[in-house]
Amino acid sequence: MRHHAPADGPLLEVKAARKQFGGLVAVNDLSFDIRHGEILGLIGPNGAGKSTTFALISGALSLTSGEVVFRGASIGSRPPFEVARRGIGRTFQHVKLIPTMSVLDNVALGAYLRGRTGVVKAALRLDRHEEARTRAEAARQIERCGLGAHTFDAAGSLALGQQRVVEIARALACDPTLLLLDEPAAGLRFLEKQELAKLLRTLKSEGMTILLVEHDMDFVMGLTDRLVVMEFGQKLAEGLPAEIQTNPAVREAYLGGV
Ligand code: ADP
Ligand code: MG
Repeated sequence: MRHHAPADGPLLEVKAARKQFGGLVAVNDLSFDIRHGEILGLIGPNGAGKSTTFALISGALSLTSGEVVFRGASIGSRPPFEVARRGIGRTFQHVKLIPTMSVLDNVALGAYLRGRTGVVKAALRLDRHEEARTRAEAARQIERCGLGAHTFDAAGSLALGQQRVVEIARALACDPTLLLLDEPAAGLRFLEKQELAKLLRTLKSEGMTILLVEHDMDFVMGLTDRLVVMEFGQKLAEGLPAEIQTNPAVREAYLGGV
């Protein structure tokens, strides 16, 4: 397991990060920090640039300019497997599971493929010991996330809320220091959202740092330690949930934006 002891300074720094798609500036010189052990919410109206920012951190997109620093080292524009290997786990905005495969196989395979460069080697299963270790770790994370009873069920047979949790278990199986979640509450029913919030609070109490990209204001308010609000690719506001809730510029962005 990774050594999770906090170092000095923030866990992750986004420094003047910029992403252009042709003439469109999706992320416009955005800067913010993620502190050790916090749940930071990144919110804003649709099209604000949240998912693009998420992709710049996870390595799914490369920066046009600026920098992303994780545990003191530059990770900006590194490939996703390397970002994962350094300790950043992620889920996807739209659930990406293989529905006919068991929960265990989804978590194990996802963790296995994402944790290394040798995708070919992984596919050929050259290292049986490593495969056994990965499956044991996957089972542990499924249990940790409260889905132990569904370990051998087909992933596609689970409710959407449970599938989201399978994705979280898969991210945890890579032993991340920082967990990135893109709209985990989208499409969930009220009770599913409550279950998800409970799981995220538990992970935080175990020392996990979480970046929560979310459109749902109600979901982030009770859950996050701090919020960064984006609009038009820029930072509109930053502060405690209670401060953000009463910020007139934020209210206007949300009312006008959606
Ligand atoms: P959010 O997640 O806050 O809804 P996004 O980061 O998805 O916003 O999108 C920000 C802006 O960038 C939007 O105008 C969107 O249309 C644009 N955008 C996102 N991804 C791409 C892409 N791959 N190519 C071109 N434009 C994109
Ligand atoms: Mg998005």
